[in-house]
Amino acid sequence: MAARPMPYLDDLNPAQREAVECLDGPVLMLAGAGTGKTKALTARVVHLLNTGRARPNEILSVTFTNKAAREMKNRVGRMLGQVVEGMPWMGTFHSICVKLLRRHAELVGLKSNFTILDTDDQLRLLKQLVQARGIDDKRWPARMLANIIDDWKNRALTPDRVPAADAGAYNHVGPKLYAEYQARLRELNACDFGDLLLHMVTIFQTHPDVLEQYQRWFRYILVDEYQDTNVAQYLWLRLLASAHKNICCVGDDDQSIYGWRGAEVGNILRFEKDFPGAHVVRLEQNYRSTPHILAAASGVIRGNSNRLGKELWTEAEDGEKVRLIGHWDGEEEARWVGEEIESLSEGSSAIAKRRQNARSEQLKREIQRLDDRDALRGLNSLEQLFERLKKHESFLADETNRNLLWELTSRQQEGLSLEPAFKKFFLDDMAILVRASHQMRAFEDRFLTIGLPYRVIGGPRFYERLEIRDAMAYFRMVVSPSDDLAFERIVNTPKRGLGDKAQQTIQRIARENGVPLVDGAALAIEQGAIKGKGASALGRLITDLARWGRMTRATVAVESDDDVVEDLAQPMPTNSEVNHVELAQVILDESGYTAMWQNDKTPEAPGRLENLKELVKALENFENLQGFLEHVSLVMDNESDDHGAKVSIMTLHAAKGLEFPVVFLPGWEDGLFPSQRSMDESGVKGLEEERRLAYVGITRAEEVCTVSFAGNRRVFGQWQSQMPSRFVDELPEEHVEVLTPPGLYGGGYGAAAPMGGFGGGVKSTLETRASEANVYNSPGWRRLQARSSERPVSQPREAAGQVIDLTAVSAFEVGERVFHQKFGYGLVSGIEGDKLEIHFEKAGTKKVVARFLVAADD
Ligand code: ATP
Ligand code: MG
Repeated sequence: MAARPMPYLDDLNPAQREAVECLDGPVLMLAGAGTGKTKALTARVVHLLNTGRARPNEILSVTFTNKAAREMKNRVGRMLGQVVEGMPWMGTFHSICVKLLRRHAELVGLKSNFTILDTDDQLRLLKQLVQARGIDDKRWPARMLANIIDDWKNRALTPDRVPAADAGAYNHVGPKLYAEYQARLRELNACDFGDLLLHMVTIFQTHPDVLEQYQRWFRYILVDEYQDTNVAQYLWLRLLASAHKNICCVGDDDQSIYGWRGAEVGNILRFEKDFPGAHVVRLEQNYRSTPHILAAASGVIRGNSNRLGKELWTEAEDGEKVRLIGHWDGEEEARWVGEEIESLSEGSSAIAKRRQNARSEQLKREIQRLDDRDALRGLNSLEQLFERLKKHESFLADETNRNLLWELTSRQQEGLSLEPAFKKFFLDDMAILVRASHQMRAFEDRFLTIGLPYRVIGGPRFYERLEIRDAMAYFRMVVSPSDDLAFERIVNTPKRGLGDKAQQTIQRIARENGVPLVDGAALAIEQGAIKGKGASALGRLITDLARWGRMTRATVAVESDDDVVEDLAQPMPTNSEVNHVELAQVILDESGYTAMWQNDKTPEAPGRLENLKELVKALENFENLQGFLEHVSLVMDNESDDHGAKVSIMTLHAAKGLEFPVVFLPGWEDGLFPSQRSMDESGVKGLEEERRLAYVGITRAEEVCTVSFAGNRRVFGQWQSQMPSRFVDELPEEHVEVLTPPGLYGGGYGAAAPMGGFGGGVKSTLETRASEANVYNSPGWRRLQARSSERPVSQPREAAGQVIDLTAVSAFEVGERVFHQKFGYGLVSGIEGDKLEIHFEKAGTKKVVARFLVAADD
């Protein structure tokens, strides 16, 4: 049968083509970011199908996420020009192994309908085993054991193979408990995540007939992101490929970012040893990013010593330098990013203009490349250019071009000018990549406030996270004790020994008496329907809730030193008062909720604690708990649809393999990025992994990459000054443009002007930064910030993004009736800039800062 035409090969460069066409034997594609590894891998699948080498179900193709697998499937279909019927073995290691294990479960003592435990189940089981041995699980938390076992599983170690060096693990009973755990799982006909691979490796190792069957079945194996495979995954692949050796792995040692989860970058370096005679293809042309972005990324990664070292080049026009900007604090950073996104998507920024020129040049070049020089003659408008381009299939094969053309066509149909389509970036073009998920909160809040649609990729949005919902449930109970849903959520979180039965009793008693659950719970104790330990823990919770409730009614707004400028009357009694931010912390601590995560040894726990801190911090923008809860419920209500264009927010880890025209990289501060843990560690291993993460971040950007840091982050209401990340200093100065923070020199938002580059190099940048820091710390700056910072609840007078002029007339007038959270109602009797003198009805005459006032609605 004659092979069909192969237009997909025309799109590849010679090195990529080599990797695609060399179908037999081992192939390793080792190349830097954006060099088209994934594209070549996809083309290879297409080529296998198109040349009739393999049917769809004979190709085993491993991607890093399910999303990547879906995308690859779609692309294969498009490149092939037809729908591919079933690519059952295209997916993640886990998704593929589940399918295989269901077929052979009995070989490891399971039934084919085994259940897969989640982390919670896994822990509960381990805890039972730990307690059964009489081990103090305070001193030796079950979480710790879970981590150790996961680690063994990542290293493909079954209980009988745990090395002598690990014998001392978990107080010397780790290996024994591991064996018990595996036996228990078998009894339960269950397995955990790590088992999926481990069992398959065991089956392949102990049943050669099964292995042979799959070696014949999977005639071709392809693996993306090979640098992040762990030992178990590596063994599994090696076993499958060992007969025909038709394995093609692609990866980049500079992008290995999962070392903390057992990934071994060594796997990629060992490939040639494992598969002698492997065809190694190196790709050096980058098709994703402009030269400045590429050079900045290369400059940073050069700081790592343990690397193969690759140089990348691009044909793209220079484009924008990497932009660097320092902000006052995290909120300000989020505000600025929001403004930038708006200006980029409206096409009003200078970048958009430059982009338009570059784009039309690019189109002209494209025509030339298509060897259609005649076409250029007489083509003066973009309209004509693109009419021409529509006729060229290979141009259309490229997704970016197709999208562009699609946009142009629809604009033309609507009779709109084509120019703006070149100028603007769409929301889908932009992404914010954070180091730690708690950084997302400031952006989410800001975007919700200004109505900018966004999506969080690779995890729930901030207010949907488990720990945040738990904490919010506590706050809800405190504000409205009859919130039964909140009560259900927290009654046994942290564990108070109230099982299903006790909870049903509470429900019943509450129903019978027609009272809220919390009162039902009190009755249940009174009537002796709940007894013992559970009863006393429940009793404590009920009294605590009532006490916090009384405290919340006595809370005062958080105030900075600048708030009350001068107390013209006697001071208000403050000893019994607690502000709502402190109260929130008290609730989380006294309820045992904070401790629950502190004692939790899973890798997620530190992140959850960070999120809780972030939640408490968010409260500072509100006057009280109630206002905050209202804000969140409005926010959550608005946001249920997932259609339409949206800005993406995700962690750097989740961004692997993706690309965006515009990328924001916030929070480049020592201790945040690189993480404190990596900085505390001896040796450079952790730091080098962080640096690779920085490299991954920068190389996601196609056209605009903005790195930012904040001079201050607020932790529990305390300013903590931050040092810009060491990675900031590693950005090569000739590829960086330093932007001036808004407001600092009278510039408006969104009009940040270059400060004149690095000038005398990195050192002078640091000095500039230091002097900026002084400006930041001056009372004038702080007040400016205070006034311009938007307050979602009590900010009726200041429009978003408005440039605040200190000399401007106050938003209030003399004689106006106002309300102050702490001092109550009063009349404005004098105005001095942002300071107002107020005759309070109860508290007497005081000078206060305007931002703590709202107009009284009478
Ligand atoms: P990463 O290391 O980040 O995963 P990668 O090496 O997998 O990157 P791809 O995502 O495959 O790179 O490609 C990066 C971009 O370059 C994509 O937009 C892709 O369409 C484009 N590209 C790749 N190869 C070519 C080529 N030969 N001609 C034109 N564009 C290409
Ligand atoms: Mg890729």
